[in-house]
Amino acid sequence: MPLDIVTIPCLSDNYAYLAHDAATGATAVIDVPEAAPILNALAEREWRASHILITHHHDDHVAGVQTLAAVTGARVIGAAADAHRLPPLAERVREADLIRVGLAAGRVIDVSGHTMGHIAFHFAESGAVFTADSLMALGCGRLFEGTPDRMWESLSKLAALPPETLVYSGHEYTAANGRFALTIEPGNAALISRCEAVAKARAAGRPTVPSLLSEELATNPFLRARLPEVKAAIGMSGASDAAAFAEIRARKDRF
Ligand code: ZN
Ligand code: FE
Repeated sequence: MPLDIVTIPCLSDNYAYLAHDAATGATAVIDVPEAAPILNALAEREWRASHILITHHHDDHVAGVQTLAAVTGARVIGAAADAHRLPPLAERVREADLIRVGLAAGRVIDVSGHTMGHIAFHFAESGAVFTADSLMALGCGRLFEGTPDRMWESLSKLAALPPETLVYSGHEYTAANGRFALTIEPGNAALISRCEAVAKARAAGRPTVPSLLSEELATNPFLRARLPEVKAAIGMSGASDAAAFAEIRARKDRF
């Protein structure tokens, strides 16, 4: 049975998620920017947090972990590579490790680049991947610690998941990401219509997450760095995929 997934807006533009296994009542919380909205969302549904899954060490993803863990007794799980700078972990995981949430199983994917040690959680049977600040809706995280090559490798792993996978990312940056994407591919019809849909959703106060991986493949300029037409559009025909990605990421940093 697929997990029931709830999107919880936190702080000014962060998202946390609940992933609930109805068969057992197990509920994972993915990232804890702040505890209060998550405790409210759990209480509304009479769910109890059994697991806290941390994607990376940035404060806007972990600030509420200790409060939430203390109140709920949830088991805190994060990257072994980041254990020294995460809240205390009950379980340290690395690439390809399996996390069980009730009957559901999530696979850890190392998606280093935004930070070294950033991980994503892929629940294949639920068709869901929690990517935080690696692959984002129409964008990707800024490279604070990793090289462009490393981030390209991380994004390539996510791009290889089934295209019907829903991507649950960490921030509501989609409208601004769309404005940048249009500077790379102003003639991309799928991108133009997606930007219109994003504007509508935001005007109505709706989140633009999750997004379908197939939509990202059709519109996200960072995933599309490998395409000859995108390399041509940035004046880099014949360049490696990672070099084209690096150029697009550099342009976004200046945008
Ligand atoms: Zn971050
Ligand atoms: Fe963040």
